[in-house]
Amino acid sequence: MRGVPKVELHLHLEGAAPPGFVRSLAAEKRVDLSGIFDESGSYAYDGFVDFLRVYEAATSVIETPEDYGRLVRTVLEELAYHGVVYAETFVSPDFCGGGDLAAWREYLASMQEAAAAAEATDGIVLRGVVTPIRHFGPERAKAPALCAAETAGDWIVGFGMGGNEAVGNPGDFAWAFDCAREAGLRLTCHAGEWGGPDSVRGAVDDLRVERIGHGVRAIEDLALVGDLAERGIVLEVCPGSNIALGLYPDWAAHPIERLRSRGVKVTVSTDDPPFFHTTMTREFERLADTFGWDTDDFAALNRLAAEAAFCDAETRKTILKKLEAADV
Ligand SMILES: [Zn+2]
Repeated sequence: MRGVPKVELHLHLEGAAPPGFVRSLAAEKRVDLSGIFDESGSYAYDGFVDFLRVYEAATSVIETPEDYGRLVRTVLEELAYHGVVYAETFVSPDFCGGGDLAAWREYLASMQEAAAAAEATDGIVLRGVVTPIRHFGPERAKAPALCAAETAGDWIVGFGMGGNEAVGNPGDFAWAFDCAREAGLRLTCHAGEWGGPDSVRGAVDDLRVERIGHGVRAIEDLALVGDLAERGIVLEVCPGSNIALGLYPDWAAHPIERLRSRGVKVTVSTDDPPFFHTTMTREFERLADTFGWDTDDFAALNRLAAEAAFCDAETRKTILKKLEAADV
């Protein structure tokens, strides 16, 4: 499966930091992070609350624009190794310059430079989706929205909220989403992971997003499932993440196949791959093992993800060509 080309739409940049990268950065900065790894060197945590502690500790050493550039390079090497030809990553002005526009531009320049270098060597294409953090509240979402609007273009192509879904309602963040939409950015929002069907409905109706991060709990309301299918809303489904965090006990219980069979546009991503001990290759393998997805299913999955990507038409054409070449 590793050689199969893949399109990934839901990936948190800091959450994609391999443990080895974090360990070497921590060593350079003389930060002791020994409590977050197991003997094999992987991230180790026990349950969701502990996952947050480990995630926060690991990502705390990624600080400067240079760190972010190195991170992009490392993550893209890993993705290219797993056959990813195009990826979108969530990037947060809150973590990159504290919401200050001038500082954000410096981080952005460093990340873009690293992405361009990876594209030149491995052919992999990366685009950025700016994400405000939901549990920081609606007021704090305005600065990242303005940063996103000011830097919208070829590389920053979307806007999508992450963070704790239990905080507030999607509609509380309408100002930030309107600001991003007016700047020409395409919209997505985490919903239907820790929140239920109402959370998904709120994101679609009140924020007018065209994609949903996760969205899997829509399955608890079949009228909503029908609605998502009819409106062509795309779900960025991350099965391995959902199972690692205990949303579903195992792959067989995951609703991706039920959503797909009801006509919902599903795509597959890894979310925070090293934290969930997964890769795009592993996700594809599990989908094949559990639901019997074959070459045609994966080709259709890739095409759908390429169509749902927030990049410009020219870039989309290039991705589709790469996918077609692999189908032959
Ligand atoms: Zn996510």
